[in-house]
Amino acid sequence: MEEITIHEFDFALINEFFTELERQGPGSPEETIRALGFIDNLSNKTKIADLGCGTGAQTMVLAQNTEATITALDLYAGSIDKLNVTAGKLGLQNRVKGIVGSMDNLPFQNDEFDLIWSEGAIANVGFEKGLNHWKGFLKKDGYVAVTYESWFTDERPAEIEKWWLDAVPEISTIGHNISIMQKTGYIPVAAFTLPENCWIDNYLIPQKARQEEFLKIHAGNKTVEDMIAFMRREADLYSKYKQYYGYVFYIGKKM
Ligand code: SAM
Repeated sequence: MEEITIHEFDFALINEFFTELERQGPGSPEETIRALGFIDNLSNKTKIADLGCGTGAQTMVLAQNTEATITALDLYAGSIDKLNVTAGKLGLQNRVKGIVGSMDNLPFQNDEFDLIWSEGAIANVGFEKGLNHWKGFLKKDGYVAVTYESWFTDERPAEIEKWWLDAVPEISTIGHNISIMQKTGYIPVAAFTLPENCWIDNYLIPQKARQEEFLKIHAGNKTVEDMIAFMRREADLYSKYKQYYGYVFYIGKKM
């Protein structure tokens, strides 16, 4: 039987599942702060766009570790509503604003931002296409910082290769992704892999209780059962093959 791919699940259903969780992808405050350490000239004039922000876990870390003004954008309105509520609770509403929009058709001015951030989201529009499109909204010498699924080795077992080619057809090695960053007009500044705790503690383990709950909420819904089975397989594959792939933070400076 053909395996179901992530693209076959309803966008709203995936987001309904994930917006109840603190993060919607692998990551951590420590790694966001580590990446932020590569960005020069941050000040209270800095303007940041956080694309594919989800409910804003990394947005709040950026806001709490800079004096910047942040526009956070996601296609899913439910996530943006949550993000704006969280910003208000943390007293950050004057500097953090969530808006609904698409990463491949940004509603911004040319040269508007000093920094474009995006964790776990650029694959939705494509690494090269996203970097190309976003560059126009960055000032000269502005930075881009993204996490993106990447191969750690030149070769890997067929089972995991197929899984990722279905999910992210463009997935490639770190070296190749750095060359794309350079080709699209950025000077590569840094690349580092996200440690396992970003996946296990912050992404896969929190999903477990939500999976049980979601199956109850949607009892008898075959699509939901398939989606949860897909997520459980993603977790199994990670523990089996994590030496071959992961998220990598890529940081570049617009030429
Ligand atoms: N950055 C968040 C985090 O790390 O917790 C969310 C990452 S989640 C894996 C990917 C996010 O990208 C989702 O919130 C999804 O709604 C958003 N997304 C998918 N396609 C998008 C698009 N075309 N434009 C904007 N956001 C999009």
